[in-house]
Amino acid sequence: MARYTDANCRLCRREGQKLFLKGDRCYSSKCALDRRGYAPGQHGQGRSKISDYGLQLREKQKAKRFYGLQETQFRNLFDKAARKTGITGENLLILLETRLDNVVFRLGFASSRKEARQLVNHGHFQVNGKKVNIPSFTVKPGDVIKVKEKSTNSPKFKEVKEMSITVPSWVSVDVEKLEGKILSVPTRAEIDTPVAEHLIVELYSK
Ligand code: SF4
Repeated sequence: MARYTDANCRLCRREGQKLFLKGDRCYSSKCALDRRGYAPGQHGQGRSKISDYGLQLREKQKAKRFYGLQETQFRNLFDKAARKTGITGENLLILLETRLDNVVFRLGFASSRKEARQLVNHGHFQVNGKKVNIPSFTVKPGDVIKVKEKSTNSPKFKEVKEMSITVPSWVSVDVEKLEGKILSVPTRAEIDTPVAEHLIVELYSK
C-alpha cells in the first residue's frame, strides 16, 4: 500500500493546524508549525482565497491525516458511517475514534497515532485477553485493552508506567496495569478532533 513518506510536519503546515503526528516534538518549541506557521512550498505564504470545494477537500485531508489513514481506507469508513443511522459526519468521527490504534494513543500507551499503529502491528496488545494486531480493529463499550504480559517489561512500556496520563471521558486507564477500558461510545462533544465533519459529508455527497 502506498504510504506518505515526506516530512510529517509539512502535512500540518499544509492544513494550518497541529495534527500531532510526531509525538513529544509536537508539544515542544521544535514544532514546525509554531516556527513556520504557513503552508510549505514556494507559494506557501502567498495563498489566500479558497473555494467551497477547496474548503471541503482540505477538511477531508485534515481528518485523514490526523488519523493517519489512506484515501481508500478513509472512503470505506465514510461509506460505513453513511450506512449507519444517525448523523453521518458524527458516525465517521466515532468510527475513527474507536479504531484500536487511536484508542491505544488516547490511552497514552503511544506518543502518536503512528507509533500506536506500529505497536499494535507488532502484537503488543490484547483486547479482552486475545491478541489483536489489526490497527483498524473497532473497539466497543466494555472492551479491555491491555499490553501483552511479555511486552510490559520493554523500555517503552516501563516509560509509560512513569507517566501521568489524562484520557478522554469515554475511556479509563490503569497505568500500573497497562490496561484501559472503553466506557462508552464517544459523543461528538467528547471528540476533540479539530474537524468540521459536515464539510467532508458535503464533499463525498457530490
Ligand atoms: Fe505537526 Fe507535530 Fe510537526 Fe508540529 S511537530 S508540525 S504538530 S507533526
